[in-house]
Amino acid sequence: MKNATSLASLFAAKGPAAPEVISPEADSSALVADIAVSPECNIRLFSAGETIFVEGSSADRAYIIESGYVEIFVGAGEDSLQLNVLGPGDIFGEMGIIDASPRSASAKALCPCRCIVVSAAQVAERIESSSPMVRLFISMSLHRNRAYSAYLKTLSDPQIGLPSPAVTEKSYVKNQQYQQILEDIKLEADLQNAVRNDELFLMYQPLFNLSDQKIIGFESLLRWQCPQRGLVGPQQFIAIAEETSLILPMGDWILEHSCADLKRFQTQLDRQAQKNTNFFVSINISVRQFQQPDFFDRLMDCTQRHGVSARQIKLEVTERIFLDEVEAIDSIDKCRAAGFEVSLDDFGTGYSSLNYLERCEIDCLKIDKSFIQKLCSSDRAKILVGSIIDIARQLGLPTVAEGIETPSQMSALQAMGCDIGQGFLFSHPLPFTEALALMEQPLR
Ligand code: C2E
Ligand code: CA
Ligand code: CA
Repeated sequence: MKNATSLASLFAAKGPAAPEVISPEADSSALVADIAVSPECNIRLFSAGETIFVEGSSADRAYIIESGYVEIFVGAGEDSLQLNVLGPGDIFGEMGIIDASPRSASAKALCPCRCIVVSAAQVAERIESSSPMVRLFISMSLHRNRAYSAYLKTLSDPQIGLPSPAVTEKSYVKNQQYQQILEDIKLEADLQNAVRNDELFLMYQPLFNLSDQKIIGFESLLRWQCPQRGLVGPQQFIAIAEETSLILPMGDWILEHSCADLKRFQTQLDRQAQKNTNFFVSINISVRQFQQPDFFDRLMDCTQRHGVSARQIKLEVTERIFLDEVEAIDSIDKCRAAGFEVSLDDFGTGYSSLNYLERCEIDCLKIDKSFIQKLCSSDRAKILVGSIIDIARQLGLPTVAEGIETPSQMSALQAMGCDIGQGFLFSHPLPFTEALALMEQPLR
């Protein structure tokens, strides 16, 4: 019941109908219904006239009617009001198990009925794993249903004079998470326009050889100049883009512009007569992009159109791509066979198993900045970074430390044998023209 309860606390959207106190009569009817349950069986049979549940009782299951008819009603005796008559294929009792509220109406078999029982736990797990937006929509629609039942009830007694469902208090509106979800919906709508209206741009952060501090490449990092919101960082929108398919056109845009800029970097290097054939641009690739069946073809097409070679591009992927290990290994192998290097980004933060390192060849480990930032203040962080560098060395892989902010972090990493550095100590992410200018003075 944990999950259903959490939905209830998210959106405490109980309509005004459900009485808080369960009457003894209601209790005993519920008991009669329960006795007929065979715990190991998810089929329930009800005889004609049998009460299935009563208004106000707690809800731990819903029913799908296989055969027969069920009346849903509020009130009791002569004052009862029929809300619905349901038949084969219909579900009832689902509202209470979705938001863990008491039953807002009673259910009675009109003739012999055969029903499939759906337990609260079965539903709760599915709801919990759905997106907050879906949960919000379910919750709003429940609220409306409950409010409507309550409203119908008041019609039989005009003296009560409750407001109509449209104006009943929607307690979830004040909930902080509700506000956050609305924000996300607006952000997603604005983001839809971002690619279309050319509001995205890339910044470039240099990567340095830690032994001689020469620039060896740049990582492209996405930014969004939103007309309404100003400059928005990827932490605020990449996750939402990944939840939807928006990351796919966005990912194509990133590939296009990173390759175009790589070509311009290369032209600059050629002009400087610096034959740096190892120069590269690192591009962050999200899991959804990588999982596209035609990702590799798109990548090849893009590099060919821009006249850049595969070995000048590093694909930065996180360990999350190994959640489907077989598929990830296939895609990585294909990219590597064509000459693209694959770096594991945020190493040490994403996945609990290192098995994939044995089964899949990659080219570089990028140590997450959370470790680097504690390097000089935490012995444990130091041990972990040292161990990652050792593992990488033994596997014949170079290591990149990201998030280097202080000279002492850099010295510690140099002493540990880390190969490549990136961080505010060297440079913040820069607009393309400033990154290009930085290349003209490669020695710091
Ligand atoms: P990331 O791939 O781990 O990128 C490194 C992040 O660390 C960047 O944040 C960078 O600005 C920041 N950083 C670099 N040096 C330092 C430092 O010394 N100190 C601190 N505190 N931070 C530092 P940014 O640009 O905000 O990007 C955040 C994340 O957004 C990225 O983490 C990446 O996961 C995602 N992202 C950025 N650009 C793209 C993109 O083009 N595609 C995809 N799929 N994800 C992207
Ligand atoms: Ca990265
Ligand atoms: Ca990273």
